[in-house]
Amino acid sequence: MNPKIILIHPPIAKPSEPPAGIAKLAGCLKANGVNYRVIDANLEGILYLIQNTAQNNTATDRWTLRAVKNLQRNLAALRNIATYSNKSTYQRAVSDVNRLLNLAGKARGVDMSLADYHDSNLTPVKSSDLICAAEKYQDNPFYPYFETRLTDALKEGPEFIGFSLNYLSQALCTFAMIGFIKHVNPRQKIILGGSLVTSWAALGVSIDKFRGHVDEMIAGAGEQKLLELLEINDGRTNYPPDYKEFSVNQYFTPGFILPYSGSRGCYWHNCAFCPEKSEENPYLPLPVFQALEELQVLTRQTNPSLIHLLDNAISPALLKALAQETLSVPWYGFTRVTKHLADDDFCLALKKSGCVMLKLGIESGDEAVLDSLNKGIDLPTASAVLKSLKKAGIATYCYFLFGTPPETKASAMKTLDFAIEHHDCIDFLNLAIFNLPAGSIEAKSLETQDFYEGDLSLYKNFQHPQGWHRPVVRNFLEKTFKKHPAIAPIAQRMPEFFTSNHAPFFVLNKAY
Ligand code: SF4
Repeated sequence: MNPKIILIHPPIAKPSEPPAGIAKLAGCLKANGVNYRVIDANLEGILYLIQNTAQNNTATDRWTLRAVKNLQRNLAALRNIATYSNKSTYQRAVSDVNRLLNLAGKARGVDMSLADYHDSNLTPVKSSDLICAAEKYQDNPFYPYFETRLTDALKEGPEFIGFSLNYLSQALCTFAMIGFIKHVNPRQKIILGGSLVTSWAALGVSIDKFRGHVDEMIAGAGEQKLLELLEINDGRTNYPPDYKEFSVNQYFTPGFILPYSGSRGCYWHNCAFCPEKSEENPYLPLPVFQALEELQVLTRQTNPSLIHLLDNAISPALLKALAQETLSVPWYGFTRVTKHLADDDFCLALKKSGCVMLKLGIESGDEAVLDSLNKGIDLPTASAVLKSLKKAGIATYCYFLFGTPPETKASAMKTLDFAIEHHDCIDFLNLAIFNLPAGSIEAKSLETQDFYEGDLSLYKNFQHPQGWHRPVVRNFLEKTFKKHPAIAPIAQRMPEFFTSNHAPFFVLNKAY
């Protein structure tokens, strides 16, 4: 039977796990008996390009020759847990695979990696550039892949083709694919959804910018809107995701990673720098018992090697329920720094339930900065949490944020001191430079300019009140923070390109 709708996950996103948003839509369509297909064009496209580059290679430099020769061995290595016991073996495999993808992009003026995509002529934050990517779809590096794949898909005659656009790194390829589809069949209805589209909508971007290319734009959760378009009303609001259609053995990971979300939005919803606040996204948690039940069913169906909890912040209620449950599969996710994580027994229970790593947004080692950002955490608790997690054997992946409006160089030095003091409790470090959300309250009180000079830009550049500007902050991070002898080994531990998506495998393998 022909599919009513085809859902596409476009390149480039890290090819480490199936796309959760599309799996959620697939669950909804299946529950309503709608015939659909899913295409992980990201995974398929990346595999196509690296294999094609290896087969047609003309470069003679040693790195490329080694990458070509070892491609199959490197892909097998990334899918083998043993590789994650040795950082240099891993590093070589991942950088050699990336080399071939990067070469495929260079031939078309695009700098791309396993995690990112930069076109030297087009930016994804300008609607006119996205339209240009659609009109010149043959220039896209993935064109040799999607020309055949989408031609075959179109032959099935779907009523709709939906793209799930979540990252800027997917935007230009999404529009190139849309351009090709509209060229082949101008009447084909295109739906555009995903979290990037939700952010655009929060900025007031409407479908008018993409008329002629996009027929429906869906902001927020897509299930209900999709059902409306299909003229279905079953009265339900939640559908468990369905991963059956995804090529479970092809991702660049040892075994299948099961992504799962117990909520949408964030229960804290208060951090001044966070798009969750500025976009006013609602918090919609599933009842805890239901989330656990869905997780157990999905675990039986997909037999994962790792569960990735996608919640912006796993709620204390869900954490407590997880602590009382043994999922029989290792899991990791993002949590806020809260008092119950400072309890040794609670952390031990989490460890027993399979928790291998927690991602924690600590952001600053200066209490005044934390207060000013409405982070809702304090440093003594953060310190106690790090120590309890360390005692329980749960790895920590800590986020610190620099260059926020209330931060000064002196505050950043306090953050460095905090990280040094806790270096033995921090397994991975994410050091980010602050971006000012365009729709935030702060953006109205600071002197700002458009960051990327684009009408779709989610962030604004601003005059830092203390002169603590991005270049100075970047210099501090590279020359001072990361160079400190207590910090350097943690910074170097970060898995290339895949970062937190591969970090748990190093933890499971006790690789450091
Ligand atoms: S806890 Fe995280 S997701 Fe929630 S508001 Fe703060 S930064 Fe945003």
